Amino acid sequence: MRILVTGVAGFLGSHLADRLLAEGHQVVGLDNFITGSPDNISDLLGNERFTFYRYDVTEFMYVAGDLHGVLHFASPASPIDYLQLPIQTLKVGSLGTHKALGLAKAKGARFLLASSSEVYGDPAMHPQPESYWGNVNPVGPRGVYDEAKRFAEALTMAYHRYHGVDTRIARIFNTYGPRMRRDDGRVVSNFIVQSLQRNPLTIFGDGSQTRSFCYVDDLIEGIYRLFTSDRVEPLNLGNPSEYTISELAELVLELTGSTAGVEYQPLPQDDPKVRQPDISLARQLLGWEPQLDLRAGLKATIGYFSGVLENDASRGKGQATA
Ligand code: UDP
Repeated sequence: MRILVTGVAGFLGSHLADRLLAEGHQVVGLDNFITGSPDNISDLLGNERFTFYRYDVTEFMYVAGDLHGVLHFASPASPIDYLQLPIQTLKVGSLGTHKALGLAKAKGARFLLASSSEVYGDPAMHPQPESYWGNVNPVGPRGVYDEAKRFAEALTMAYHRYHGVDTRIARIFNTYGPRMRRDDGRVVSNFIVQSLQRNPLTIFGDGSQTRSFCYVDDLIEGIYRLFTSDRVEPLNLGNPSEYTISELAELVLELTGSTAGVEYQPLPQDDPKVRQPDISLARQLLGWEPQLDLRAGLKATIGYFSGVLENDASRGKGQATA
């Protein structure tokens, strides 16, 4: 198959491209590099089945030739990114999804939307099944991401119902692993970089809020299975093992051998208090569940960030902190 991936230079987009190429497909990748990085796709540029265009997917999108799949992964995805890029976040979720769906319709291609557990907001139901409608503050600072993803889901279902486009919606929960940006502000990358630099870990709030962390390879397996399945309604993909942020901090300190401890900072507005995917449907429909536990996944990610920091030091980038 010939498959388009928007946001191909991002954390998830680049891992997805690797997987699609490994399965023997051709990949056309788009990215405007506002949060993605050329480093994430530098290894792919020599692959004759990979084509890259630097492009803003909120603009009209045309790709010559056949396309069998359109996977829409473009978007700022970290809270600090979408707080700094609120308009771009809204545009890529709305206009970008519209353009990507239009292209899928024109080509008769299957479409997959990278949606998010943020559609559940600060959930009043725990864990969150796909049937839960969520608890989102539309006008709060996180609303730019949450509502963009909610609109993107609504648009995807409208294209399915009205135009008959073959669509899939992945609700992706917290995912971590190699190729996260060291400065993307998310808790796993922050804690690992802070520990490796022997700085205290910044816990926002009292650390009792929970998240459930999925290693990137597990997530990509779930995405691939969803893409090749018949499921049209949204599907949760994430690791149901739930940790408080304090527990995560303890584990990162232990695995990195750091004694720098933690420091407490204010909790960002509308920060969800709990989050845990109910993946019963993914288990049943895809025969999928995450394989790697947090300890093993963190070790792999710590190895990756150690390499990044060493590289930066040898390039003379100094000791910028997370
Ligand atoms: N967090 C934290 N310290 C950090 C970064 C994040 O305590 O340095 C908290 C954040 O307030 C949230 C959780 O960790 O409760 C997960 O944050 P992240 O930005 O990774 O993703 P979110 O799930 O909020 O989108």
